[in-house]
Amino acid sequence: MAALVASRLRDIPDFPQPGIVFKDFTPLLADGAAFEALVSDIAQRYRGQVDVLVGIEARGFILAAAVAYELGLGMVPVRKAGKLPGETLKESYALEYGTAEIEVHTDAFEPGQRVLVLDDVLATGGTAEACAQLVERAGASVAAIEVVLELGFLDGRSRLAGHVVNAILTV
Ligand code: AMP
Repeated sequence: MAALVASRLRDIPDFPQPGIVFKDFTPLLADGAAFEALVSDIAQRYRGQVDVLVGIEARGFILAAAVAYELGLGMVPVRKAGKLPGETLKESYALEYGTAEIEVHTDAFEPGQRVLVLDDVLATGGTAEACAQLVERAGASVAAIEVVLELGFLDGRSRLAGHVVNAILTV
């Protein structure tokens, strides 16, 4: 899977601002066979191990929805502040570029549900850390954090101590 993912990612220099190399996974999504292989790979590793999927806005939604469908499970969106209509919990965090706030509905989970968090890229780990805090504040348990690509040089993993973190590809 790592080689397939590597072959379907592309670097976009200086996006969204100078100095950032954006890891674009739209070529992976556009390749039906590669997307299916990715979703199947993730789903089979967590089948029976998790109760619900969380996708982090926005690219995490694509992955979490597909894996949830494959497993016959539900999917909970963790969204940027101000997007969810119901009562929410909120966390602020620092990004590789800028700062942000994310939210989840307070009633998104059943107590103790095992959650698989999905996103495309693990960079500084701030987003995943904030997401894990939201999941736990909402009464569920983070079973694992799964990303397609980990930027190892940013050491986001160190902010996620105590969590199972898996990256299909680390650069
Ligand atoms: P971080 O909180 O620093 O781990 O950033 C992770 C979030 O920002 C993820 O939702 C990624 O989609 C996005 N992100 C951060 N850095 C990059 C990058 N170099 N290329 C693509 N996405 C990125």
